[in-house]
Amino acid sequence: MSVWNNSQVMRYDYDLFTIGAGSGGTRAARIAAQSGARVAIAEEFRVGGTCVIRGCVPKKLLVYGAQFRQSFADAAGFGWHLDGVSFDWPTLRDNVQTEVARLSSLYDQNLAKAGVTTFNERAEIQDAHTVRLLHQDRTVTAERILVAVGGHPLRPQILGVEHAITSNEAFLLERLPRRVLIVGGGYIALEFATIFNGLGVETTVVYRGDRVLRGFDDDLREHVQAELIAAGVNIRCGVNLAAIHSNAGIYNCNLTDVSVIETDLVMFAIGRTPYTNGLGLQRAGVALDAAGAIKVDAYSQSNVTSIYAVGDVTNRANLTPVAIREGHAFADTVFNNRPTAVDYADIPTAVFTRPPVGTVGLSEADARQRYRHVDVYSTSFRPMNHILANNPGRTLMKLVVDADSDKLLGVHIAGPDGPEMVQLAAVALKAGITKTQWDSTIALHPTAAEELVLMRSKRA
Ligand code: NDP
Repeated sequence: MSVWNNSQVMRYDYDLFTIGAGSGGTRAARIAAQSGARVAIAEEFRVGGTCVIRGCVPKKLLVYGAQFRQSFADAAGFGWHLDGVSFDWPTLRDNVQTEVARLSSLYDQNLAKAGVTTFNERAEIQDAHTVRLLHQDRTVTAERILVAVGGHPLRPQILGVEHAITSNEAFLLERLPRRVLIVGGGYIALEFATIFNGLGVETTVVYRGDRVLRGFDDDLREHVQAELIAAGVNIRCGVNLAAIHSNAGIYNCNLTDVSVIETDLVMFAIGRTPYTNGLGLQRAGVALDAAGAIKVDAYSQSNVTSIYAVGDVTNRANLTPVAIREGHAFADTVFNNRPTAVDYADIPTAVFTRPPVGTVGLSEADARQRYRHVDVYSTSFRPMNHILANNPGRTLMKLVVDADSDKLLGVHIAGPDGPEMVQLAAVALKAGITKTQWDSTIALHPTAAEELVLMRSKRA
């Protein structure tokens, strides 16, 4: 870790050059510039990065759009009769893109307000202190370089892969397909399955494992998979896509169990990989790991002391708020004389499926590996508004507790507003709350969240 000294002679064009204007890069650039540093940032696509342009933000807006189908169905039980309801994909798609453009331009403005110079072009590293701007075909120098280029979706090497899309293209479809086949069982596969299904597309998920959302709590996985199937998503576990054959706009997909699925759109959501290819990192001597991610220390510094990296390109915890925290910590460490390492413990996360998932802390299985005695409390119920609506969807809530210390280890929710509840549960868990303290909180009635503080019976 090295600390910036703004009294030094200006040997470089900039004190900091950031490559990539996504969540991590823009935060780092702004905080560094606000400390008085001379900062530039380069972005080859659109300012805002994956989260704003083709990730979290447009995804969540599409999820909102897809939820209306269920809301309209639920409305009848409350006396509303909606005749002639119809859906127009171009309206939703274009409105989402308008919002994305508005947010991207806010990011642009905020960078400018902070005094950051933005280059709308690709930049590559030439050496430890030099960056090449490809469009202008010139080099600039910087005392420090921050790599915040994120990741990009993986594609498998199978026959016909060129016929498939990834999440990058899913936001811009010219028209909605009648049928879609999604490969993968993680965040993106299930969120898009929820979106397509909600928008009326016949949706099939092909997942190589035995149950979706590997890594999450097993009860949660079971619950989400069952609810998605109940909502009409066809989930095929234990198989993978082997080949895609195109036939006049229709795709025949060969699965590894030799069955064939005919569909109108194939989408891969099989993970993302650091976007480090061709960036000049090897030339500058920056060490990468086996996955192509930049290896960094706790202060986001690479083995080349002038080169740092934050966000998905480092493959630590690939989530937007983590990239933002890493970018801020980097700028505080280097430009504000405040050495800051990010704390990666107990990061809450959400999957915007139907029902949505919110989770923080240890799954039951992980807790049992690390602690001698683990208590589990869980409940499953139909939320109040589902009763009149005759909506069978259920909510699952689960608490994992260290029986010896009484400390809360994990909170897992799959149900409407689950992610909203878990953000607050994460505060308590992070503060080291015990189950006794948790239970001493008086319920807030009538809410679904009150069930969280009313779980008294341990699961046998
Ligand atoms: P994930 O890692 O969540 O899931 C990848 C899925 O693809 C897994 O089910 C995995 O199976 C499967 N898979 C991997 N390789 C292959 C293969 N060769 N053939 C078939 N299946 C394969 O990745 P995503 O692409 O869904 O998302 C990328 C990252 O983006 C996430 O990890 C997350 O960090 C972030 N993200 C976060 C969101 C949020 O916070 N709500 C939303 C979207 C993305 P297996 O389980 O067997 O490994």
